Amino acid sequence: MKNRIISLLSELVKINSVNATLSGGPGEKEISGFVARYLAKLGLDPEIQPTAPDNTNVVAIIPGINRKDSILLNGHLDTVSVESMDAPFSLRQEGDKLYGRGTYDMKGSIAIMLLLAEYFTRHTPPICILLTFVADEEDRSAGMEYIVKKWLPEFSPFPSGGIFLEPTELEIGVSHKGFAWYEIEVIGKAAHGSRPSEGVDAILPLRSALEELNNIHSELLNTEADPLLGHATLHASIIDGGTDLSVIPSRSRLQWERRTLPGESQNLLNLELERVIQAVKSFPGNHDVKGREIFVRPPYEISKEAKILTCLQNASPQSKLVGLSFWSDSALCGKAGIPSVLFGPIGHGAHAADEWVSLKSLISVYEIMRKLILSFEVPVR
Ligand SMILES: [Zn+2]
Repeated sequence: MKNRIISLLSELVKINSVNATLSGGPGEKEISGFVARYLAKLGLDPEIQPTAPDNTNVVAIIPGINRKDSILLNGHLDTVSVESMDAPFSLRQEGDKLYGRGTYDMKGSIAIMLLLAEYFTRHTPPICILLTFVADEEDRSAGMEYIVKKWLPEFSPFPSGGIFLEPTELEIGVSHKGFAWYEIEVIGKAAHGSRPSEGVDAILPLRSALEELNNIHSELLNTEADPLLGHATLHASIIDGGTDLSVIPSRSRLQWERRTLPGESQNLLNLELERVIQAVKSFPGNHDVKGREIFVRPPYEISKEAKILTCLQNASPQSKLVGLSFWSDSALCGKAGIPSVLFGPIGHGAHAADEWVSLKSLISVYEIMRKLILSFEVPVR
């Protein structure tokens, strides 16, 4: 098993699948071809789904004994950029650690999904397995959006559970935060710096915006924390404006990110944006202000009663239930009505220069997934 994982992961790491829109990489075209060929060799009928010019998913179905029940296994094919990495596309082993871009997040798990496909094409599983290798998780989830909107609706009944093999240190990820991006733009009037009375400063009012964001943040830290995820937070992310040192600035912009908890309402978020807009408006001056929500992804939390969660706990009794700091495609799947959990290997350096995954933990993921799938019962006819 060790050697199989190493050689397969080495092939996957060799293929540059840096996200196209986030980091200007080639996207998933080549790696999806590799995955599709691998699955086809096993006798499956993989489907390549182009979801955008540089984004491609691969999906395949492993038929089970019970054709009326299925679970979905998911992994993303894209990685973040390879900036400041020495040899990002060649796998290097140091003891139990396998280094290279994507080993941890999450080509190690892609290798495991392919090896599971190999096992279950030789040993018919009790229920059907939907394998989804998706594009663009690192940016706007074009791949998972496609799966949820275009592919999954074909299935009746829906898969009874989803497992996202993102790195979780062999713990069971039952929840994660969502995020929402906002911006305000302040419009003033340009004038020569020597004649401020002829202009309207568009930067100074941001002071009120920052103060209000700070107030909101303090309030968030003073509300009750989620037992697994902690507090909701926000931070100012990008600020720009002005043109020249001796010019009264005619425009400024402030963007911020809010990390959301399960249960927080859209209404609450809208009110926070409104508070920031109002704060800028009340700053003295004749400036104008506009605010908008740029992009939102929901938080996620699986129901404690979900069958997939119980099955995974039974297959991996030593794993703790954890909340995860990162956002994941599982939120989209959960929102579509498929209870989903996250479970994956141990490692380090997702999105960093020294990325590695533990080989032993990949073997554990394989064994636990196999045990989980085999634990589904076939109904007696
Ligand atoms: Zn990931």
